[in-house]
Amino acid sequence: MTLILDEIRKREKGLSIINKIIKSKGIDSLIDLTGLAGGFDVSQEDISLLETYAGPAVFDERIQTAGINHLGGSKVLALNRTTSGIAAAIITLVKENTAIVHYLPKKPGHPSIARTAKLVGADYVEYSSLDEFKVDENTSLVFITGTTMDHEVIDVDEFKKVIQIAKDNDVLVFVDDASGARVRRAVYNQPTAIDLGADLSVTSTDKLMEGPRGGLMAGSEELINRIKLTVNEYGWEAQAPLVAAMVKALEKYSPDDIREAFIQKDELYEKLVNKGLNPLKTPTGFMFKEDEIKRQLESMGAVSGYSSDIIATIYSMLLLENYNIITIPAVGMPGASKTIRLDWSAKDSSKLTMDELVCAIVNTFDDCKNVIESNQVESVLYEL
Ligand SMILES: *Cc1c(COP(=O)(O)O)cnc(C)c1O
Repeated sequence: MTLILDEIRKREKGLSIINKIIKSKGIDSLIDLTGLAGGFDVSQEDISLLETYAGPAVFDERIQTAGINHLGGSKVLALNRTTSGIAAAIITLVKENTAIVHYLPKKPGHPSIARTAKLVGADYVEYSSLDEFKVDENTSLVFITGTTMDHEVIDVDEFKKVIQIAKDNDVLVFVDDASGARVRRAVYNQPTAIDLGADLSVTSTDKLMEGPRGGLMAGSEELINRIKLTVNEYGWEAQAPLVAAMVKALEKYSPDDIREAFIQKDELYEKLVNKGLNPLKTPTGFMFKEDEIKRQLESMGAVSGYSSDIIATIYSMLLLENYNIITIPAVGMPGASKTIRLDWSAKDSSKLTMDELVCAIVNTFDDCKNVIESNQVESVLYEL
């Protein structure tokens, strides 16, 4: 049987489960361990400033101070997504028939990079080995991912070498530091991308910090102004309410939760291994890649012809439905990673003990097996 995952319908299903949980048990019963919990901590005074011109006048100035403090550079630009920043940078800086090269600790890069490369008619190549990485006269932009979607962190020496190679060839460097601007820095004490010599960097303001879904880009005034023009032309700038919440989140951000989770995750990992599971450690928690979810189920005797992305999405959907635990596959945007990643630095981790989490993880493998064996896959994925 070849069932292809319908990413729009599965996300609608995931969000509808969340909505039902909120209506029946309240928002506090949700346990968001995505590390993307977001947050919208604005005061009454902030809200009173949210008029068309007053809002940008006030918050665009405050985001400059808070953003430069977080990312470095001399100017920042607030965006409605990290994706918008990536797209705008490529549209502004990359010409047709040139090439974008991307260095990252592990493939794949975020899909927005390949998609926008295609849009502007540029070639796009990813490298995760320095021996293979190369830049030539046709290269128009070098991307570096500081921390991948699965939280693999770049080695700081490799980071510096890639920047050096780009500089030697006079090519601009753009760093996708969506979660890296915090994971890399908090856990491994790495410098900001700009301090490492990058020309531009972008981060997601809801990843491992309590801000709204949004993007924040930093760089020189000249480059930021050029990209800002594209951003405004396409309507990708963050509106004042979003910027107000970003300012708040940046001002209260502390790396302490990330550092604490970095230490505690080893204990969590041991508990899972003791249950016969095979997770991978992340800097602040653990994950099961989609292939591992499928392999684990097969080892439990569940046979199926479903692809691993479908199986991982079912797993995520059941973890949400039965244990109120949110992971990305059930609710992520189309193309988002299907890795089941649980972030112990998330503020909702205080809502359950390690043993309760381990129990939910173990039981969900059984639940998943039942769903596959009783042919309920499509109803679990899509039925509202
Ligand atoms: C999350 C992520 C993005 C995209 O962020 P959005 O805010 O969803 O657009 C890009 N790159 C990486 C490495 C990410 O983890």
